[in-house]
Amino acid sequence: MSPAYEPVIGLEVHAELQTQSKMFCTCRVIDPTDAEPNTAVCPVCAGMPGTLPVVNRMAVEFALRVALALECTINETSVFARKNYFYPDLPKGYQITQYEQPLAEHGRLIIHTSTGERTIRVRRVHLEEDTGKLTHMSGATAVAMAEGSPDNTERPYTLVDLNRAGVPLLEIVSEPDMHSIEEARVYAEGLREILRYVEVNSGDMEKGVIRFEANVSVRPVGELELGKRVEIKNLNSFRALERATAFEIERQSKVLSDGGHVDQETLGWDDIKEQTYSQRSKEEAHDYRYFPEPDLPPLVVDPAWIDRVRLGLPELPHAKYKRFVSEYGLTEYAASRLVESRRVADYFEQAAGSDSVSARSLANWIVGELFALANLAG
Ligand code: ADP
Ligand code: MG
Ligand code: ZN
Repeated sequence: MSPAYEPVIGLEVHAELQTQSKMFCTCRVIDPTDAEPNTAVCPVCAGMPGTLPVVNRMAVEFALRVALALECTINETSVFARKNYFYPDLPKGYQITQYEQPLAEHGRLIIHTSTGERTIRVRRVHLEEDTGKLTHMSGATAVAMAEGSPDNTERPYTLVDLNRAGVPLLEIVSEPDMHSIEEARVYAEGLREILRYVEVNSGDMEKGVIRFEANVSVRPVGELELGKRVEIKNLNSFRALERATAFEIERQSKVLSDGGHVDQETLGWDDIKEQTYSQRSKEEAHDYRYFPEPDLPPLVVDPAWIDRVRLGLPELPHAKYKRFVSEYGLTEYAASRLVESRRVADYFEQAAGSDSVSARSLANWIVGELFALANLAG
């Protein structure tokens, strides 16, 4: 009989902070689906030499909301760093991010799965800037789009759109605390709920405003030491997150049970073939030549500001869920479905306020018939 393996999963979640303007300049943050390419770009986010970044105060406030909702400790002083690498979507040749001193650390998210309640630790929450968007296409498509001007139909072309370059991005890194695909999915969904509750992100996955990277390893059941992990980049949907993680758990378990070893590497996910593929061997921090960003002072958030943000937070999904179960006697299932969205939860409470209906049957009607109708109506 082959030994059983336990999966170990840690997630890195990137969420755009949907502020009015970008992280370090006054360009607008625009909906990628309704703007012409390269219309929200200035010398700062286009990486022109001699320009200087200025931190967007509202982006810091949005980041604080999320970090506090995740019960993190806020570092009153955090430091921006340069992460150096070349790619056509990164005009400066480096990304401004936070490295050794992030904005927040040591948080947690409580999740509910089919096996009960679990706490997933959040290692860090830090601020950075998004990159531009590349669109790869065949020469034939490019020729058709440009009405004949690229003359080589054989060669592939890549279009560069810098509207997204410099949009504030929050990175939320978990500890390797998840041990099933379900836990990874529920954690990712829980983060999306929180981002929407505190009104920093629309949660529109199909627009790419939340993206996942999954770190996956397996180890023999009972083993305490972590196995060698892979990192799967650019997972843009819950479905991709689940499929890619499942694929890796199976692949790595087979490698180990055949007596092989797992290589530590960075993988991509092919949505069509439904398999991971090797992108590169795992990069190390020193490959990026991180150093403190000389154009920005340390970021200092004063305790009064942190307190103000904390007091302004709404009731969060987990607390609301607990209250719905105890106050209205709802089933755990109905309560968890109702709190997925703040608007639905508010709607339920308003309707439950009239004594003519029982809260329980109201909840069942909403998560049953009403949700079914809403789905049908798109
Ligand atoms: P890096 O910055 O190189 O990506 P980190 O040590 O910061 O590496 O870890 C990134 C993510 O990988 C975290 O979410 C962490 O929980 C997860 N992780 C680390 N080791 C493992 C492992 N052996 N198996 C699964 N996930 C892991
Ligand atoms: Mg990583
Ligand atoms: Zn700009």
